[in-house]
Amino acid sequence: MLTGLARDGGLYVPETWPHFSDHEIRAMRSMSYPELATVIMRPFIGDTFTEHEFREMVEETYAGFDHPAVAPLRQLDGGLWLMELFHGPTIAFKDYAMQLLGRMFDKVLTRRGERVTIVGATSGDTGSAAIEACRDRAAIDCFILFPNDRVSEVQRRQMTTVQADNVHSIALEGTFDDCQDMLKALFNDMEFRDRHNLSAVNSINWARLMPQIVYYFWAATALGAPDRPVAFAVPSGNFGNVFSAYAAKNMGLPIERLMVGSNRNDILTRFFTGGTMQVTGVEPSLSPSMDIQVSSNFERLLFDLYDRDGPAVADVLTKFRETGSFTVSQGMLERAQELFEGHATDDTETTRVIAETWKRTAEIIDPHTAVGVDHAMAARAAGRIAAPVPIISLACAHPAKFPDAVEAAIGSRPPLPKHMADLLERPERMTVLANDKAAVSGFIAEHVAGGKGAA
Ligand SMILES: *Cc1c(COP(=O)(O)O)cnc(C)c1O
Repeated sequence: MLTGLARDGGLYVPETWPHFSDHEIRAMRSMSYPELATVIMRPFIGDTFTEHEFREMVEETYAGFDHPAVAPLRQLDGGLWLMELFHGPTIAFKDYAMQLLGRMFDKVLTRRGERVTIVGATSGDTGSAAIEACRDRAAIDCFILFPNDRVSEVQRRQMTTVQADNVHSIALEGTFDDCQDMLKALFNDMEFRDRHNLSAVNSINWARLMPQIVYYFWAATALGAPDRPVAFAVPSGNFGNVFSAYAAKNMGLPIERLMVGSNRNDILTRFFTGGTMQVTGVEPSLSPSMDIQVSSNFERLLFDLYDRDGPAVADVLTKFRETGSFTVSQGMLERAQELFEGHATDDTETTRVIAETWKRTAEIIDPHTAVGVDHAMAARAAGRIAAPVPIISLACAHPAKFPDAVEAAIGSRPPLPKHMADLLERPERMTVLANDKAAVSGFIAEHVAGGKGAA
């Protein structure tokens, strides 16, 4: 949790997956969300927190969400459900992990008498979730890099209007992939990393993925698991959310299919179709949180496809960085296709799906959610998901987070939830920096500990 990225540049994964029996999964049906969350995450926590301590943090985290079910399901038609993951403070699914992560960090650091500098890169929603989770926490300084002019106004304002001395929004002149590369460069500078005790809260941090496993169990058991298998449609960018679903499957949840949705930036769809990961340029789309080419968590799936052979994965990824491409064997592709499938939805289709869903069901969905719904309906229509298997499509963000895209589809702007109704009037605070490592590391050094950390 505290380290984020391993020192050799690799990502951490659990050594083994905990496994729940059908009997244990059946018992989850009657649990509250915090109870379920405690049971699912407990095996990963070890003795870092006592049972009581951990349960208290989990309860406090989800008590701050604005729906009593925390992650409620809404039925769109006979076999299609939306799981609403926008009931946290920044109205996107990132809160489900980040709100807990902020508390876990603070608890451990305070106990050790240490501080960390959290540096994150965001394509939109991670940044506000991280800032909201870190604000005013005594043991943390938080710096968030986002691509200048490439996030929605609501997303930007959620980051730049938080008035807390320990959080800083940096608009980098570049794309999201440039932000991710910058983050890697800062972490690979061991002297800088150690001096400021850098830590990551991007989904490269395993502790970000862990709390997301919970809502897959929550939805599946509500719809009949383990006695009925389910399928999930997961709009994907960094492959973090859908990797949590994969973890749930490894932990015993009967998931029949994982639908990985992309927008026009369809590198994952192309991979699951042909077995080649091939980078092309990043194009802005209506679903900016998925405007990504290099999905950092894909490395974790690759590790399993290579039968957990770390050096082999490192070779593949080195080649990928050098050439922008790699291809897995036919056998590996077929193994991946047993569970995963990709589907790309362009902006025109996204707009059509928002409009049609609204007409058909009176639900207003955001453009990321629309990518998942489109995928779910296409898979059902093509007969790839059998009729008795419910499809749960993840509603990743509240539609008010992307008002322009929604207005273009349905002719009106969805209102922001009450707690952020005045967002567009709040004063902003951000710094625009060149895509240059010295500029970014200099800014961080100057501003840690409220400016007291300059070396
Ligand atoms: C972060 C995000 C995604 C992509 O999730 P990954 O875990 O990066 O695959 C999709 N939609 C929304 C609204 C997001 O905030």
